[in-house]
Amino acid sequence: MELNSLTIHQLQEMLAKGEVSSVEITESVLTRIDQVESKVGAYITLDRDNALAQAAEADKQQAFTAARPLAGIPLALKDVVCTEGLRTTSGSKILESFIPPYDATLVTKLKEAGAIILGKLSMDEFAMGSANENCAFGVPHNPWALDHVCGGSSGGSAAAVAADECIASIGSDTGGSIRLPASHCGVVGVKPTYGRVSRYGLIAYASSLDQLGPLTKDVRDAALMLKTISGYDRLDSTSLNLPVPDYVAALDQGVRGMKVGIPKEYFEEGLAPEVEAAVRNTISILEKAGAEIIEVSLPHTSYGVAAYYVIAPAEASSNLARYDGVRFGHRTKDPETLVEMYKKSKSEGFGEEVKRRIMIGTYVLSAGYYDAYYKKALQVRTLIVNDFKAAFAKCDIMVSPVSPSPAWRIGEKDDDPLSVYLSDILTISANLSGVPGLSLPCGFSNEGLPIGLQIQAAHFGEEKLFQAASCLEQELGLAGRKPTAI
Ligand code: GLN
Repeated sequence: MELNSLTIHQLQEMLAKGEVSSVEITESVLTRIDQVESKVGAYITLDRDNALAQAAEADKQQAFTAARPLAGIPLALKDVVCTEGLRTTSGSKILESFIPPYDATLVTKLKEAGAIILGKLSMDEFAMGSANENCAFGVPHNPWALDHVCGGSSGGSAAAVAADECIASIGSDTGGSIRLPASHCGVVGVKPTYGRVSRYGLIAYASSLDQLGPLTKDVRDAALMLKTISGYDRLDSTSLNLPVPDYVAALDQGVRGMKVGIPKEYFEEGLAPEVEAAVRNTISILEKAGAEIIEVSLPHTSYGVAAYYVIAPAEASSNLARYDGVRFGHRTKDPETLVEMYKKSKSEGFGEEVKRRIMIGTYVLSAGYYDAYYKKALQVRTLIVNDFKAAFAKCDIMVSPVSPSPAWRIGEKDDDPLSVYLSDILTISANLSGVPGLSLPCGFSNEGLPIGLQIQAAHFGEEKLFQAASCLEQELGLAGRKPTAI
């Protein structure tokens, strides 16, 4: 076994016993990157020398203890979190040369825990997309089938973990962007409860929906990572001041007596039969393990996509107004007037999908249309919140597919943005309602592409996600399966 293919907890143990050094682990990961990155394309920026220097420092300090749970472990970050002195593009040409002057709170926390930052990973521009096909710096390829998408928008984060180009990674999820790529690349991904992880230093897409979370090789690593990055931050006014439970302790509790809700609207038309079969199989495993399975209903599910694609672009159109060529990022060459400078800087800097979202967002917020679109979408959001409250009054967790189908071929949906939006139907409600969701590999399609299971819990119920996911992971025996295409 190469070191790069191991998990955080496996390497932690080896480091603590002095069996390996952080430099050895980091070199192993960098060698792997040299071998496969030209096929996968997961990274936007690789910080090779600095990573090795950090690893050498970690070895010198020998602080491989429980207090510094990530000491000496090389991780990589979606290029949406600010890293001091390290280029952060958000997948956009407009930020092609942006070097943040500060670290996001999440980055500070990872560094305090001893993690080594390898670099920044591919993503859809400003996290807008479901397949990572909208990145200004190229499309990453799915390590299980290189002509297929990785899922998005955190496609690079999922691909890098699946391809062992890092030990674990961070992604962001506004409408499914951690869970979808985790599902398509066969790794574990967690979207925490809104307010659980600080958004300070996260480049904003839709601020009322965005959350950062981990993508990992197994459930234990996800619990460990989430524990490290969670917690109150006075720099994020939406972060909640609640104690962070020991998620790792939840792993061995089993599911006996747990009430598992099956939302009937998540199994309706459009669901690929192989996805349904894999998910139904996990439901029977939960039942055998002692869980009680009940049917629940989320009656407003079908309105979720429409509401989301009003609310998210509305917030984005406001958040992205700051990229005006004056303070941040790209500025057009030799403009004749101020207005021309604004126009050309934005036209040259933003990609097609981002422009589409800004136009939608501006339109739904404009006088005369605000009530018909934005206000209506907010009302639908409240109905969805109420659906989740009613469902979680009856069950502890809900289990469903993550995506209606396995990953599609790169380019297949280029002319059909609407069908890409529709692929978010099973994930966006968690963002609209703020509840946490976890994606766990649960099977493979006939073509050999990974299929993910979604587990959702009530607000701040992450422990239950880990409890169920850990039980299923053991029963399914899929952790440790490696992609065959690279
Ligand atoms: N696919 C959704 C969108 O394009 C969600 C993306 C995300 O979660 N960042 O908006």
